[in-house]
Amino acid sequence: MTVMQAPAYARAEYHGFEASGSHFVYLVSAGAIFEIDADVRAVLARLDGQQLTHAALVRELSSDGTDPDEAEALVRELRAARLIQLGAAAPVMPQAPPADFPLQALVLNVTNQCNLACTYCYEFGADKIATPAGKPKYMTLETAKASVDLLINEAVGRKAVHITFFGGETLMNFKLLRDVVGYANGATAAAGKAITYSLTTNATLLTSEIVTFLSDNRVGVTVSMDGPPDVQDKHRVYKNGKGSYAVIEPRLRTLIAHHKTRAITARVTLTEGVTDVVRIFRHLKDDLGFHEVGFAPVTTGEERAYSLDDNGMDSVLAQFNILAEEWLEYALRGESHGFTNVSETISELISGVNKSHPCGAGLGLMGVSPSGDLSPCHRFTDADTHTMGHVSSGIDRAKQGAFLAKGHVEAKYDCQSCWARPLCAGGCHHEAFVRYGDTGHANLHYCDWIRQWTDTCLRIYGVLAVQNPGFLERFAERKGLS
Ligand code: SF4
Ligand code: SF4
Repeated sequence: MTVMQAPAYARAEYHGFEASGSHFVYLVSAGAIFEIDADVRAVLARLDGQQLTHAALVRELSSDGTDPDEAEALVRELRAARLIQLGAAAPVMPQAPPADFPLQALVLNVTNQCNLACTYCYEFGADKIATPAGKPKYMTLETAKASVDLLINEAVGRKAVHITFFGGETLMNFKLLRDVVGYANGATAAAGKAITYSLTTNATLLTSEIVTFLSDNRVGVTVSMDGPPDVQDKHRVYKNGKGSYAVIEPRLRTLIAHHKTRAITARVTLTEGVTDVVRIFRHLKDDLGFHEVGFAPVTTGEERAYSLDDNGMDSVLAQFNILAEEWLEYALRGESHGFTNVSETISELISGVNKSHPCGAGLGLMGVSPSGDLSPCHRFTDADTHTMGHVSSGIDRAKQGAFLAKGHVEAKYDCQSCWARPLCAGGCHHEAFVRYGDTGHANLHYCDWIRQWTDTCLRIYGVLAVQNPGFLERFAERKGLS
């Protein structure tokens, strides 16, 4: 005779945290944050390390003096909210987007040439995956127009599309950029869609004329730079080894003074010896006047001399935490701070993202090389291993499907038990390829770092939810999240 066991409740997968004296859980299956009261905590505590049947759970709660009807209602409520579940179910994974997911953005690599020779550059340095030999160095207007047409045709159902101009050094092909903006404005208007633009540059070629154009056309600008002169000139050098700070400084001042229509952002690459995050932030934000400053560790094989080791990453995290604390102080006063790394994570937490893939690469976003080859994103352009069609012939759906199947968080074994996966989903495909030779590999070298950083941002969210919820509402509105 088979004895049927009553199904038992288990805790759902979540990450608990405290902020401003309140308790919260970050529910992994939903990528959602809940504030929990003492009654809810009592239920979760009962299920710590054990499973209990419905009757046993209600009985235990009632033994503490809770009215049985209230205990019953509470248990049902928590089950409906998916904070508890029947049995230790397999981790819940987000669904893959549909195969015909519409394109939203293209990154046009308008040239693969650069006038600098930054030692750590993923495009030209030791870890490069691009194979540009024999391919066009500059995108033609014909290819750029075909890219715009493809974007419009593939953005089915979208009201707005976006183009990012990228390089090499983007401004080495400014003429094309200027011409294609004119074309794209007309083509998108005819198709009934809005369009926005952004550009990444090393700032060495900025002129007043270019700044006026960028401001007039509301082109968001991100400047790749590393900090004050001694830091900038360590890696961001001309081919003759000369540093670039003295060249870009006056140009940046012109850009920040005269580009009034979009935020100007600095993006810093952190490398061995370039980990002085707070000092770099102060210089870029306070001395130069950037509106936003973001940091990213260099993408590299771990054996490179400029790669960040564990000590370097720990130092970076400690300094991120100092700026995060400042970000929170500003937010509590209702002010913007400008540390992009917090703003971006808070945006994702507010949106409740639960990613099937780490980013939009190959999904809503694709890169276009100067020759017109499509790739998952700008970091894969000109890499024969990762072409995904051509702007003249369209997206290669088979290659796109294979890339996305590999990159789905469900395919990354190590991520299945990680509470940070709704935000991380295994991390950058390009970094995984450089580190592990496989775009579908989880970026396991930074898991602890990611989890600690996510926890920091969850706490910031929690403090604001308790002490200044209006800031979160205004922040969401400003970022177009609500
Ligand atoms: S890569 Fe690491 S931190 Fe990211 S989801 Fe996977 S296990 Fe978690
Ligand atoms: S694959 Fe990496 S570099 Fe490319 S869009 Fe995604 S996160 Fe960015």
